[in-house]
Amino acid sequence: MAKQEDLFKKVISHAKEYGYIFQSSEIYDGLSAVYDYAQNGVELKKNIRNYWWKAMVQLNENIVGIDAAIFMHPTTWKASGHVDAFSDPLIDNKDSKKRYRADVLIEDYCAKIEKKIDKEVSKAAKRFGDAFNKEEFITTNGRVLGYQKKIDTILKRLGKSLENENLADVKALIEELEIACPLSGSKNWTDVKQFNLMFGTKLGADAASAMDLYLRPETAQGIFVNFANVQKTGRMKIPFGIAQTGKAFRNEIVARQFIFRMREFEQMEMQFFVKPGTQTEWYKKWKEERLKWHLSLGLGADNYRFHDHEKLAHYADAAADIEFKFPFGFKELEGIHSRTDFDLKAHEEHSGKKLRFFDHETNTNYVPYVVETSVGLDRLFLAIFSNSLQTEDLEDGSTRVVLKLPSILAPIKVAVLPLLKKEGLPEIAHRIIDDLKFDFTTTYDEKDAIGRRYRRQDANGTPFCITVDHQTKEDNTVTIRYRDTMLQERIAISDIATIVSKEIAFKKWLR
Ligand code: ATP
Repeated sequence: MAKQEDLFKKVISHAKEYGYIFQSSEIYDGLSAVYDYAQNGVELKKNIRNYWWKAMVQLNENIVGIDAAIFMHPTTWKASGHVDAFSDPLIDNKDSKKRYRADVLIEDYCAKIEKKIDKEVSKAAKRFGDAFNKEEFITTNGRVLGYQKKIDTILKRLGKSLENENLADVKALIEELEIACPLSGSKNWTDVKQFNLMFGTKLGADAASAMDLYLRPETAQGIFVNFANVQKTGRMKIPFGIAQTGKAFRNEIVARQFIFRMREFEQMEMQFFVKPGTQTEWYKKWKEERLKWHLSLGLGADNYRFHDHEKLAHYADAAADIEFKFPFGFKELEGIHSRTDFDLKAHEEHSGKKLRFFDHETNTNYVPYVVETSVGLDRLFLAIFSNSLQTEDLEDGSTRVVLKLPSILAPIKVAVLPLLKKEGLPEIAHRIIDDLKFDFTTTYDEKDAIGRRYRRQDANGTPFCITVDHQTKEDNTVTIRYRDTMLQERIAISDIATIVSKEIAFKKWLR
């Protein structure tokens, strides 16, 4: 565990030191769970977004993109269910001033009783040895049955109270169970309140006539409300998809783990509209497709796994997460949801406009079903960045820190380094950059010994270093050094672009 925490700390400090991610408004001590992308971070983020966009929009004939506004008509969020259901029950402890999710406090209490059951089971297993039958034990042992009954009663009551929005009873339950603040041990609680995760804002000049708006908590609704516009103007035939990337905002109650859970973040979503009855097939297909896309980045198949949901959201008939092994364990990276016709139907009802597809073959129209793929760009950034940051032991006994970003995503593709700061070498280096910069991001570095400059580029994630030396003046050749293998080769200046292009070609990565 300590090792994992150390690794995560390293990731965070490396991201700052090498100009990838800064805390937002750091000079004012920062803003919690809000981050800025720095000079290298913005390039990496843009490249990841582009890699997703090309795979979705450019490589699929039946998927088009849009860029909807962050502000949307407030009825959107009524229709989508976010006004009523996108909230968590909150409770504050008056002494510690700490805020908790009331349902989580109660669930944690039940988890403790569950541990007692586990203890009884392992005690009995020891006592009975080989003759032990767990199933029989937990269904007949008086003490275990008592514990289980207690858990069931508590959770049933909690579920009912939440469903009926009886928050007073949720508080009563916390008091009856004598649940204390995990931090202070105090049982001095406030009332339970529903806390909607949407950020509210206002549109309009004067307070009286201003309209209440929300910052969108997901990008998906911008796609649904544009379904008919895109379908008609793009003459799209079912099945087809609409892709979008953009900011989303959630007032997360507990936000930590760096850019894993932010209050302002970016999503990359694709809503795929299908004929009712075919959704399961498409859901399976998109699960496979999305995993394949992730694997194309070469971060290692062992780092991904599916987590199929048993408890489904109100709009879904199937859902799964692609989880990634972050420095703090396997966690959700992307969600794939079979959203049924819930959203389009709800928008039809609230807007009075038809959101249907007319099938010329059968002469009927229907509300399409939707399969959604939704990945957090920032979370993906964290997955790629943390997986790429490696410390290697070298043959000469030294170590190097290297950021092995997939070369196609690296912020700077080529560093050009004159061996010396004089004798015409810097001029040649600049001329090389002047030529390469139209196609690749480049950087120039003449400070320190060449070995140190290589290390700096390794830590920065730059896949190619080009070194200009005296021989360059004679025969127009340079040394190319590859970040991952540290291999060095003598090549003609005129071959640099070809070599780099080949390595970072979309076709090579996305094939
Ligand atoms: P979680 O369970 O982690 O809160 P979620 O199930 O609410 O996530 P979705 O609503 O399915 O997430 O959003 C799709 C994707 O958006 C997630 O898989 C994740 O990558 C990203 N995402 C969601 N919330 C955040 C956040 N607060 N910060 C960064 N990324 C987020």
